[in-house]
Formats: sequence, structure tokens, C-alpha cells
Amino acid sequence: MQVLFVTSEVTPIIKTGGLADVSAALPAALMGLGVDVRILLPCYPQVIKALKDLQIIADFFEKPPSGFDNFPPSRLLMGALPSGIPLYLLDCPEMYLRGGGPYQDEYGVDWPDNPNRFGLLSKVAALLGSAESPLGWKPDVVHCNDWQSGLAPAYLQYVQDPSPCVMTIHNIAYQGSFPSSVMPELGLPWDSFKPDGVEFFGKMSFLKAGLFYAAHITTVSPTYAKEIQTEAQGLGLEGLLAHRKKHLTGILNGIDTDAWNPASDTHLAHAYCATNLSGKAANKAELQRQFGLYQDAEIPVFGMVGRLAQQKGVDLIIETAEKLINLPAQLVFLGSGDAELQRAVLLLAHNFPGRVAAYIGFDEDLSHLIEAGADIFLMPSRYEPCGLNQMYSQRYGTPPVVHATGGLIDTVIDCNTASMQNSTASGFVFKSMESASLLSAAKRAVTLYKDKQNWASLLQQCMKKDFGWEQSAKAYLQIYRNLAGKKAS
Ligand code: ADP
Repeated sequence: MQVLFVTSEVTPIIKTGGLADVSAALPAALMGLGVDVRILLPCYPQVIKALKDLQIIADFFEKPPSGFDNFPPSRLLMGALPSGIPLYLLDCPEMYLRGGGPYQDEYGVDWPDNPNRFGLLSKVAALLGSAESPLGWKPDVVHCNDWQSGLAPAYLQYVQDPSPCVMTIHNIAYQGSFPSSVMPELGLPWDSFKPDGVEFFGKMSFLKAGLFYAAHITTVSPTYAKEIQTEAQGLGLEGLLAHRKKHLTGILNGIDTDAWNPASDTHLAHAYCATNLSGKAANKAELQRQFGLYQDAEIPVFGMVGRLAQQKGVDLIIETAEKLINLPAQLVFLGSGDAELQRAVLLLAHNFPGRVAAYIGFDEDLSHLIEAGADIFLMPSRYEPCGLNQMYSQRYGTPPVVHATGGLIDTVIDCNTASMQNSTASGFVFKSMESASLLSAAKRAVTLYKDKQNWASLLQQCMKKDFGWEQSAKAYLQIYRNLAGKKAS
């Protein structure tokens, strides 16, 4: 089985969120199942910094392939991830070699040529999935991820001998919708600009195109697969998704259990495991020290890591913060994003020194320290396709408080008498997206935290849960086989 995995970010090279982690861990798990999986990624400056000795394997600078006339010159370089997964790097200096992030400039403003940048990524994915592939290697399946590669299934309509496509939705809120004027620049024929095509409420939508043309759609948890077929969460795509539900599967994301392992985590000064939690206490002391919180081993510390966005319910934490710290507890934030939420978080830290602390920015070391050093993790997302942090936190013995939505429902089992007795409890779930509900779940957590014996059992239960990729990778492989008409060998 040969699979081209198309993505706009991958750990450890370039990451803005969970997509990067999935783009590294899922291919690695597929490789473990014998799949010949290769990744296609734009060649950002971060790639050149991270990888040496890149080989040129296809040069379109002199002679672009047919249909590429509207795009600036590009070529394909080859490298590899630390896991050994081959990386095809789409080198187009005019589009990708710039400061800032993969989607936005340094001020957080979307690059105006994003349709062209990710149109080119999609176009090259389709080229590699066609009879014209310049690589001497043609994938059985092209696996696209989120809107940035959503046009590949559309372009594949116009190539010879196209490979079938899987389109994975990591977050339906990011749709890549642009004015119809981008159609000619992207070289898409106008007859595809229709409801049965790339058109979406008068615009051209990358994600809609992918969902319409892909042979199979997946999303990152079974609950989210159902939610996105409803008006409340489908963001206009619910009709199409419900129509395609026979070809829509929710497959829960796993986590990289090597990178996120408290017993061997190189980001931590103190390793620990389920049977010896003394390292966790040492990490808590370190967390309090680094963040300028009062050094107190007994007080529960709530931790939050993630994009500071409405989606993540950060506003609800802010609204509830004073009541949380009066439980009493400490509160630590790591994140960046919405300027207003950043300001509000910093203001809290300013108003409650020693009890609330925040670091605004992206910091891999600190994210591991919070997962390890906090006692309770906060993840009150309004919606959550899958979410990774709640899985990391369970693995680190930091039970999460989560809102009952999407992948959070699929990965956290609420702590109650029954779930404690049958040893399945792994966190605290609240149903309504209100400050009082978050507070009540947080109070349940703090009450149990004071009951040392039961808290220790909860931590054991969390830490022994299996969040590995194996089962999910097998589910993807089955979909690939169905599409490629291949039997298990
Ligand atoms: P999303 O993809 O919606 O942002 P996920 O929970 O699926 O959310 O994944 C987020 C990933 O990004 C996790 O690996 C998390 O640890 C990481 N992350 C988010 N914000 C930060 C930050 N400020 N610093 C370090 N890591 C972060």
C-alpha cells in the first residue's frame, strides 16, 4: 500500500496545532503496519533550518508541468522525518520562503496569497497522484488533511489515472473559502464552480471541494463525525456530510506515546511513572518556580495549554478564574492567539500574582512541564474535533476537566462512583458551556484531589489508558484498502 499524506504542518518541523502531531504520528504508525507512506509538505524556512542535505528530485523551474502556468516556479526536494518517513518538500520560494507562520504573517494576519499557496500544494498532490507523476512512484491513495490540501481531490478530477483520495477534517471551522475570482488563478475550470463542485455559498471553498470530491471522508473522532452532520456544528457543510455519511468515518486520533511519555520525556527534569509519582511532585515544584507561583505542594494546580481561541473555552476559564483560585487552587496558562484573550489572561496573572500565571507564546518545553506538573488539566472547549491535550494530560496523571463535546466525550470518562469502582474514571466532564458547570466539575476534581487514596487510584487509571495509534492506524489502512481495492496481505 502506497500513500501520499498531504499536510501543511508536521512535528517536529513546523507546528501550530494538533494537525502537526497527527501528521507525524499517524504516518509513523502506518509505516509500522507496512504502509509505504510519504508526506508532501511545503518547504517553509523552518524545513530548511531543520533538515540538511535535501535532494532535488523533480525540478519544475525550467519546465513546469502542464497546467502549472499560473503558479510561480517550483520543484520537489526530498528529506525525511526523524521517524524515517520520507518527506517530499514543495519548494516554491516565492510562496513559502518568508517569515511568520505557515498561514499568517508575524502579526497574525492571513497571507493574502493563501489560496495560491495551498492551491499549489493541492495541485502538486494531484500531479503525484496521477499518471504524470514525475517520481516513478504513484500512491494508491492520496490522503489530504484540512482545507490546505482540500483542492487536491478537485484537481484529481482533471488528471489521467487519478489515485483515490481520503479527505480528513481536523477542524471544520477552517474551510479555506475565497472569492470566486481565485478560480482562474488556480486553473480550475468554471464548470466546477457549482454546488456539485467547489462552490460554497457563492465562494470557492477548499474544504467543501475536498469533501465533495474525495472518495472517502474521515474526521478525528466518532462523536465529531456525528456532530458535523448537524446544523449546530456543521457550519454549513452538514447537508453535504449527511448526504455522504456512508463515506464518512470518525477515527479517533492517537498520540505519540514515545514523545509524550512521562517516564522518558526529555523536556522534563524529573521522570516518573504510574508506580512512582515522586517525579510528578518535583515537576509541580518546578512548574511553580518557573511560573512564579507560590511554592505549595498541597494546593491543586490547574493547567491549560492551547490556542487562546473561543473554541477552546478560554473565555470561560477567565470568567471562572477567581472562583477557581478561591477553591483554593493555582492556575497556569500557556497559549497564544486571540489578542483580547491574551490580554485577559495576562491581566489575571497581573491581578493574582503567585496564584495565576501565564506565558503567552508557543513553547514545547513548557507544554510538557504543564502536562506533568499541573494536578488538573482544564480543557473546556466549546467544540473539539478530537483534542490531544486531554490525552496527554491523562497519560501524565493530570486528570482533565472537559466540556462534553466531540473527541473529549470519546476520550475522557467522567469520574463518579460507578466509574471509580470499575476503574474507568479518567477526568471530570461537564455538560453545559457555563461558568457554573465548569466550576462544579473543577470543585469535584479538587474534592477528590484532597482524598489522597482515591486521587492516587484516579491517576493510575488515567496513566494506564492506551492512547496509542495502532487501532486507529489499522482503521485508516482498512479505508485505504477499500479504496485501492486491495486485500490485506
Ligand atoms: P488544536 O489542534 O485545536 O490546536 P489540539 O489539542 O488537537 O488542539 O492540539 C494542540 C497541540 O498544540 C498540542 O500538541 C498542544 O500541546 C500544542 N500547543 C498548543 N498551544 C501550544 C503552546 N502555546 N505551546 C506549546 N504547545 C502548544
